[in-house]
Amino acid sequence: MSWSDDDIRAILDTIDKFVEQDIKPIARDHDLADSYPHELVEKMKELGLFGATIGEAYGGLSLSATVYSTIVQKIAAVWMAPSGIFNSHLIMASAIERVGTDAQKQAFLPRMATGELRGGIALTEPNAGTDLQAIRTTAKRDGDDYILNGTKTWITNSMHGGGLAVLAKTDPHAEPRHKGMSMFIVETKDEQGRVKPGILINKIKKTCYRAIDTCEVVFEDFRVPAANLVGLEEGRGFQTAVGGLELGRINVAARGAGIAQGALDLCVRYAQERESMGKPICEHQAIQLKLGEMATKVEASKLLIKQAAEMYDTGQRCDMEAGMAKYFASETGVYCASEGMRIFGGYSMSVEYEIERYYRDAMLMCIGEGTNEMQRIIISKQLIEKNRI
Ligand SMILES: Cc1cc2nc3c(=O)[nH]c(=O)nc-3n(C[C@H](O)[C@H](O)[C@H](O)COP(=O)(O)OP(=O)(O)OC[C@H]3O[C@@H](n4cnc5c(N)ncnc54)[C@H](O)[C@@H]3O)c2cc1C
Repeated sequence: MSWSDDDIRAILDTIDKFVEQDIKPIARDHDLADSYPHELVEKMKELGLFGATIGEAYGGLSLSATVYSTIVQKIAAVWMAPSGIFNSHLIMASAIERVGTDAQKQAFLPRMATGELRGGIALTEPNAGTDLQAIRTTAKRDGDDYILNGTKTWITNSMHGGGLAVLAKTDPHAEPRHKGMSMFIVETKDEQGRVKPGILINKIKKTCYRAIDTCEVVFEDFRVPAANLVGLEEGRGFQTAVGGLELGRINVAARGAGIAQGALDLCVRYAQERESMGKPICEHQAIQLKLGEMATKVEASKLLIKQAAEMYDTGQRCDMEAGMAKYFASETGVYCASEGMRIFGGYSMSVEYEIERYYRDAMLMCIGEGTNEMQRIIISKQLIEKNRI
């Protein structure tokens, strides 16, 4: 679908209202109580956010990466965590839309676009994060099913959602290792919404990204229909997982830039309210230097995201640009949140002031969707590849 500029403005205005009316008032309480924001999920369904990047043919909004990343920034500027409820879901949907068969797309994408089926992506295991090819979960063919055994960890949306794209080894002895990896669409709940036998889900208590369900998911002889092997071909799971990385990195960059912008906004206000030595602290040069640096890094992050998103939207390869945006914007989130803690002084330690939540949430953006150590290594490799002498 090609949206007009007026349509886009209307969509973004609606998001601004959603953020002000629905997210802002509940963010702190849900975060501190670590309680799932069910009310936001219902509102997100109404807004169509669960279908934001899913194709129109399947009932989605088919938004561009440019518009989608702007939406993510707006939400993360107020509270980063809820963006994960639709973000991880859309990574699963994107895997099905890119690699799934027509029957798989028809079976899952319309339900995902409305939010009736909400999902996530289950790659990480206790022994395998960055080194995904080291996963130990196995999927063994048995008649019309595969039998899943193994433990996934840090899986977002796994307790309150109903579906997961699960990466498993169909050939644990394959060399190279990625050739033995496959992805499966697993519906984790029965029609009554109960977790199916053969799956155990245990919530992880987190310091950050609270209120959102991130869990350990254990499969014990769990049967998944062979028809749910994504693309109906074994050995393509690793490519399917990494094939969504460009958009995934743009998304995480947008969350980082949102955190940075939100922390800056809190500081610009507080620095005018708080007085020391007879004047607002924004009139002290030490604080002005911080605000100037923060604001510049926020704008630079947004420009890097815009560049990567526009390249993505016009079909250009942008893994290096998306990696740069992810690296810089997430580090800017950490920078602005920690400078914000200094600007708020002792009050940064009080949960009455929300800067502490930004500080807790920011670091996750440096770790998810490829750690920032790996981002710089990938950027460097690309640089050499493009400029070989
Ligand atoms: C809140 C939260 C939500 C998450 N949600 C999901 C989810 O929904 N689905 C999912 O599948 N996963 C999820 N994850 C997992 C996340 O993707 C991993 O934590 C991440 O990939 C890093 O893996 P790791 O934690 O095992 O770190 P490790 O891979 O153990 O890395 C530890 C350190 O070593 C460095 N390192 C590792 N290998 C190399 C190398 N080759 N060269 C240089 N440095 C290296 C890393 O950069 C890092 O600094 C989530 C994690 C968190 C914390």
